[in-house]
Amino acid sequence: MSAIKLTIDGREIEVAPGTTILEAARQLGKDIPTFCYDPELPPNGACRICVVEVEKARALVASCVAPVGAGMVVYTESERVINARKAILTLLIANHPLDCITCEKTGECKLQDYCYRYGVADSDFGGEVKELADDDTNAFFVRDMNKCILCGICVGKCQDVIGAGAIDFTRRGFVSNVGPPFEDAIEDSTCVFCGLCIDSCPVGALIPRYSLGRGRPWQVEKTKTVCPYCSIGCNVTLHVKDNEVIGISPAEENPVNRGHLCVKGKFGWDYLKSGDRLTRPLVKSNGAFVEVSWEEALGLITDNLDQVLDRYGSEAIMGLCSPKTTNEESYLFQKLIRSLGTNNVDSYTRHCHAPAVDGMMEAFGSAAMTNSIGELSETQAVFVIAADPSESHPVISYRVREAVRKGAKLIVADPEPIGLTDLAHHYLPLQEGSAVALVNAMANVIIEENLHDRTFIEKRTEGFEALKSAVAKYTPRYAAEITGIGEDDLRSAARAYAGAEKAAVISTVGMDYSAGNGGLVLALANLALLTGNLGKESAGLYLPYGENNLQGASDMGALPAVLSGYQPVKEKAIREKFSRSWGVKISEEPGLSAADVFQKGSQDPVKAMYILDENPVSCLGGEDSETARFLGDLDFLVVQDIFMTETAALADVILPAAAFAEQQGTYTNTERRVQLTRQAVKPPGEAHPGWAIIAELAGWLGFDWDYGGPEDVFAEMASLTPQYAGMSYEKLAVQGLQWPCPSKDHPGTAFLYEGRFSRGLGLFSVVGHEAAGPEETGAGSCIAAHHACQCQSESMSRRSVIDNFIVSKMCGR
Ligand code: SF4
Repeated sequence: MSAIKLTIDGREIEVAPGTTILEAARQLGKDIPTFCYDPELPPNGACRICVVEVEKARALVASCVAPVGAGMVVYTESERVINARKAILTLLIANHPLDCITCEKTGECKLQDYCYRYGVADSDFGGEVKELADDDTNAFFVRDMNKCILCGICVGKCQDVIGAGAIDFTRRGFVSNVGPPFEDAIEDSTCVFCGLCIDSCPVGALIPRYSLGRGRPWQVEKTKTVCPYCSIGCNVTLHVKDNEVIGISPAEENPVNRGHLCVKGKFGWDYLKSGDRLTRPLVKSNGAFVEVSWEEALGLITDNLDQVLDRYGSEAIMGLCSPKTTNEESYLFQKLIRSLGTNNVDSYTRHCHAPAVDGMMEAFGSAAMTNSIGELSETQAVFVIAADPSESHPVISYRVREAVRKGAKLIVADPEPIGLTDLAHHYLPLQEGSAVALVNAMANVIIEENLHDRTFIEKRTEGFEALKSAVAKYTPRYAAEITGIGEDDLRSAARAYAGAEKAAVISTVGMDYSAGNGGLVLALANLALLTGNLGKESAGLYLPYGENNLQGASDMGALPAVLSGYQPVKEKAIREKFSRSWGVKISEEPGLSAADVFQKGSQDPVKAMYILDENPVSCLGGEDSETARFLGDLDFLVVQDIFMTETAALADVILPAAAFAEQQGTYTNTERRVQLTRQAVKPPGEAHPGWAIIAELAGWLGFDWDYGGPEDVFAEMASLTPQYAGMSYEKLAVQGLQWPCPSKDHPGTAFLYEGRFSRGLGLFSVVGHEAAGPEETGAGSCIAAHHACQCQSESMSRRSVIDNFIVSKMCGR
């Protein structure tokens, strides 16, 4: 359809049919006031503050709901319009506390701004005013509903975007309010404390508790950085006053979280200023820790590592990296350990996610979530199995809800209802341990009913005939006995998935109800390959990781058999490339893994360990465990962390590190997006950024490293790592880049495997539900049910009062 031409305040504009007057005016840079309008919600024209005058129209029209018309002539600030807005504001402040002097929202309040703009200082309307008691029953925010102007944005966001449905309009007329059912306390509602209502409230009705009395908006410095909790990597803005974080809000302009957060990102950061932070290096002396200088601590580490090297050789040293530290720390850490002559370096990337990594490697030849988080909102069918993204990765659940609002079909398979079950078109409450049988049966239906993508299978895959034979026995009737899912339900779910042009699968690995996590990953890969749902936008396999930089720690080569970018240490040319850059010889023998040492008992050779920001004692059995005994018996143990942990308590030397808001670096999120994390506050006491500690220690150990800052570290890593070759801090500054990004002019890669899989052809695998046995996920030890390990994202000891509340309320433990 052709564009529509209209005139707004004397200026002509052409816009697409269906554009509202408000949208058209905004395209011209006009600032029409709004209270109830939010681009994420259907407009409802309720507050009327956006009224404009349209020639030949009888009355003023609400611009947020009125579509443009050909030849329309609009006035956004005529006398009639201004008088109407003044009247609305006068009515609003007649029943609104005018305590702007002390209101926390002053300076950021739309009501205050519009009253200033139109000169409304007082109201002639007398009569009753609301006198509601504050609801400050919850740990996160205070609700002063006397200030609520009933715009309804919080209601829409809570219901449509987040899906919590905790609040709605209550009562009618003058006593109308917004709150939980029966006006209960918010604490007792279905509120998930994501904070979106707070961030979208135009007035001062909802104020985060942590900001109360801490500073005015114009007194804070704002720093954009990345949430350190989970692998989504939400962009956040830290509000800082006097070197203290006093608030946090979602960063608006980014493709990852688009203005949304979850409870952890919004509220779970007060550990930064905890009095329990490590602030000076500690050395164990006669069983107790004493504070020492950095020189003393680094000297002691150097002497002890030298002794172990002399006595036992390089293989007696091992480094355990963390999927929480920055890429720069991970890269330097594995470089340091490898410079000591061993590949004994690992991170907890393998602890929880081995099934996903191994399964994707087998099917596609590389291990990463195939598509971007944002693409989910455009998919036409979503199959969620063995996952509860509302709990583990809330932003993914927000995108699924958006897709369903746009018409996508949702299939949920889980023994228990999950956060998305209420939206599901097909809910399959399968029996525990039967997920592989269910997926195989869906494959059976798809093949039997000729719903598979023959062209894709012929051109892009191998092993189809073997799969076809293997799933032949998984008829819906056969599967019904195993899964407990009715034949018709199973068939219609398979048809919904296969019938969509773009269909996505979401599953969090590390689940422990399934009869084999690795088998399920392969079965899901089969499903995506069968239907051609790989190598294209808004389709794919979403296996999001738990920890915030799990992807990055793997990418950086904190793994025993590969250097950065998964370049095998076995390959001579690769070793030579790194040797030339680092000036050391790289061992050709793959090293020990964390599982080798902690779970398979291959501990003998290891006499000294350097553990970075990780707490294996807590994860693997506690203080009486074999892990604790092994670490306690080491000749020498160094732990670098921000708090004293159960593992640090066993160390000979503890190095105090900076937390996420205290240093610069990069994280790589689960959609392979490399993002800058920026320093907002100084580390406490003598704590240092992790990369700087490792670089300093390398100098003590005799290596000639010369980095001016983390940017230099990143540049060196990128020069050696094909997937990161085109990246630089400068290019990452705007909205990060997704690997592979092989050259400076490359825009990054939103979805993988367009035209080719990493292994060439995608591989179908034969997976029987009986044969699939649990792989070594280790997940059951630290997570509730099958949900991704969100609590482990920060060491248990980092929990504050609020963190503990989050864990108990959100994680059920
Ligand atoms: Fe986003 Fe994950 Fe942080 Fe929540 S924990 S705000 S979903 S990055």
